[in-house]
Amino acid sequence: MLDAHFFRRWLTAAAAAVDREADRLTELDSPIGDADHGSNLRRGFTAVVTALEKEAPDTPGAVLTLAGRQLISTVGGASGPLYGTLLRRTGKALGDAREVDEARFAEALRTGIDAVAALGGAAPGDKTMLDALVPGVDGLPDSFGAAREAALQGALATIPLRARKGRASYLGERSVGHQDPGATSSALLFEALAETAAEGGESREGGHG
Ligand code: ADP
Ligand code: MG
Repeated sequence: MLDAHFFRRWLTAAAAAVDREADRLTELDSPIGDADHGSNLRRGFTAVVTALEKEAPDTPGAVLTLAGRQLISTVGGASGPLYGTLLRRTGKALGDAREVDEARFAEALRTGIDAVAALGGAAPGDKTMLDALVPGVDGLPDSFGAAREAALQGALATIPLRARKGRASYLGERSVGHQDPGATSSALLFEALAETAAEGGESREGGHG
């Protein structure tokens, strides 16, 4: 079972991954964007970690909705409202359960991803974060490791795509040949999730990990 502690550790690991990869995310956002994706997410996830430490929400749903609100209010770029919506809607779908199993989490995450698609009007194949999020959540029923691998492959598969949404779409054909920054950061979220689970994802409050 996954508890609030697990979700706090996941988002803390995600913040560390974003911090570590920020320069690369910004580099990917240079040829097909405005070179701010890494700094946008670093600002957002730093605020997430600060808020989680301060408020220490005690249900999975509360952890995710708090994190989502922070991303929406601190990230100026398109990715802030989109990732914020992802976490907020996933959190709402989890309700006030104190623990959730993997299947319930996967279902809630899909609700969050559907909300991202609705907000941004994008679908898989449009060269956006959805190209990693959708394969990632599809892989979750197998394992966290399978989800990580599927999200990573999804991000790599954006390279030959032509962007149809977001800033990169203004470039038309010239967006082909570049990996989408948002799909890359989405793959990082799944990487952090797999790491967190491997470290003892089923630990409870006060347990190991
Ligand atoms: P901005 O484009 O405002 O500078 P960021 O650079 O932080 O914002 O984020 C860019 C990423 O956001 C893109 O690489 C893409 O993955 C994602 N994105 C942009 N628009 C959309 C959309 N409509 N739907 C889904 N994802 C999107
Ligand atoms: Mg940008």
